[in-house]
Amino acid sequence: MAQADIALIGLAVMGQNLILNMNDHGFVVCAFNRTVSKVDDFLANEAKGTKVVGARSLEEMVSRLKQPRRIVLLVKAGQAVDDFIEKLVPLLDAGDIIIDGGNSEYRDTTRRCRDLKAKGILFVGSGVSGGEEGARYGPSLMPGGNKEAWPHIKTIFQSIAAKVGTGEPCCDWVGEEGAGHFVKMVHNGIEYGDMQLICEAYHLMKDVLGMGHDDMAQAFEEWNKTELDSFLIEITANILKFKDADGKQLLPKIRDSAGQKGTGKWTAISALEYGVPVTLIGEAVFARCLSSLKDERVQASKLLRGPPKSAFQGDKRAFLEDIRKALYASKIISYAQGFMLLRQAATEFGWTLNYGGIALMWRGGCIIRSVFLGKIKDAFDRNPELQNLLLDDFFKSAVETCQASWRRAVSTGVQAGIPMPCFSTALAFYDGYRHELLPANLIQAQRDYFGAHTYELLAEPGRFIHTNWTGHG
Ligand code: NAP
Repeated sequence: MAQADIALIGLAVMGQNLILNMNDHGFVVCAFNRTVSKVDDFLANEAKGTKVVGARSLEEMVSRLKQPRRIVLLVKAGQAVDDFIEKLVPLLDAGDIIIDGGNSEYRDTTRRCRDLKAKGILFVGSGVSGGEEGARYGPSLMPGGNKEAWPHIKTIFQSIAAKVGTGEPCCDWVGEEGAGHFVKMVHNGIEYGDMQLICEAYHLMKDVLGMGHDDMAQAFEEWNKTELDSFLIEITANILKFKDADGKQLLPKIRDSAGQKGTGKWTAISALEYGVPVTLIGEAVFARCLSSLKDERVQASKLLRGPPKSAFQGDKRAFLEDIRKALYASKIISYAQGFMLLRQAATEFGWTLNYGGIALMWRGGCIIRSVFLGKIKDAFDRNPELQNLLLDDFFKSAVETCQASWRRAVSTGVQAGIPMPCFSTALAFYDGYRHELLPANLIQAQRDYFGAHTYELLAEPGRFIHTNWTGHG
C-alpha cells in the first residue's frame, strides 16, 4: 500500500487546493472528509491523474501514513476541529502531528496545544492566507504551536508556500501555542486597515478633487509603482476601471454597506484586552459598522449639514500626491500598531515571536502582500529587538518625508467634510506617540479628585500620592 507523506482532512475549497498544491510539489497526500462520498468525487475529478490517495475511514487514513504521522485539518473552525482531534487521538502514537489550518481562534489553539502535549501529540495551529488561489499556488503560512513538530513539517510547508525575492518562502515558524493563529488574526485586522485607507484615498480623490473613475484608476496604477506597490492597490485600479455590461463603471453602482466576518473585530478586541492602542484597525472595523447603517445614513443625509460644497482651489496634482503620502504614512502607523499588538501578546503569553519572519510571511501569498513588508523585514533584520517600527531609521524618515502632505490631506478633507477615520487616527497616534508630555496629568488629577485614585509626580515616579482637592473632610 502506498505510504503517504501527509493526510488532509476537509475536502472543501481550501483543503482540495492545498492537497493539489502539495501533490505538485511531489508529496503524496491522503485525503479524507467527514462526508466520505466527497473523497471519491475528489479522486475521480479534481485529483484525477495525481498521486493523491483517499481514505474511507480515519483508521484507513492513519494506516496509510509514514511516521511520524502528519495530519492537516482544514475543516470549519470550532467544534469540528475538536471532534476530529478527539477521534484521531486514540489512533495516533506519541510524536505524531496534528495541524489545524483553519481560521481557529488563537485561544482554542493554545488549549488544544496544551491538551495534546499532555497526550504526547504535537499540535500546530497554522494561519493560512490567500484564499482559494493561494491554497492552490502558494499561500502565506503562519505555523505556531509545539515546536518539536516544525522539523517534520518544515519542508512540506515551505515548499508549498508562496515565494518572494530569490525564492524565499512566505512561511516560517511563528512561535508557541496559539501564536500562529494570533498572527493570522492580526494579518486580517491589518487587511481591514489597508482596505479602509484605500477607501479614504478614493473618497478624497472623488469628492475633493472631483476625479473620474478612469483617472482614479490611473492614479492607483501609478501609485502601484511607488512604495505603495501591493496587491490591494493593484486590484483597486482594476476595480475602478471595470465596466458593467452597459459599458458604465460597476463600482458606483455597488451599495456602500460593507460586510465583515469578524477577524478584524477580534483584532480590535485583543487590542483593547491587552491595552495596546491599535487605533487604526479599530477605526477600520467601526467604519464598516457605520457603512452598514445605510438606511439611517440616508435619513441623516437629509437632515444633517456639513460644510458647503466648493470646487478644489489648489494644485490638483500636488494634492493627489498629498493623498498618496497620507496613505503611505497611515499605512506605516497601522503596521507599527499591529506589531505593537504582537509584541504585547508575546509578553502576555510568554511567546518568542519571529517578527522579521512574520513580515516575510505576509510579503507574498496573502491579501496584504506588498513590497512594503520587505522593508519591515529589513527593519527587524537590522534590529530584532526593535521596540516600534516608527523608531527604525527607514520608517522614521519615511513618515517625516510624508508628514506635511499627510497633514494637508487630513486638514483639507476635514474642511471639506470627508470622513477619514483611519487617516485621522493614524495622525493622532503619531502625534500622541511622539509627545513627551500628554494631557493625561489632568486625567490623573480628575481621577484623584473624584475617586481618590492617587497620582505620581513627574519627579517621583512610583510614589503614589492623594490630594484633598476640595479641602473638605
Ligand atoms: P468550510 O466551509 O469552512 O468547511 C467545510 C469543511 O468542514 C468540509 O470538509 C466539512 O465536511 C467540514 N465540516 C464542517 N462541519 C463539520 C463538523 N461538524 N464535523 C466535521 N467536519 C465538518 O471550508 P473552507 O472554506 O475550505 O475552509 C476551511 C477552513 O479554512 C476554515 O476554518 C476556514 O475558516 C479556513 N480558511 C478559509 C479560507 C477561504 O478563503 N475559504 C481562507 C483561509 C482560511 P463535510 O463535507 O462533511 O460537510
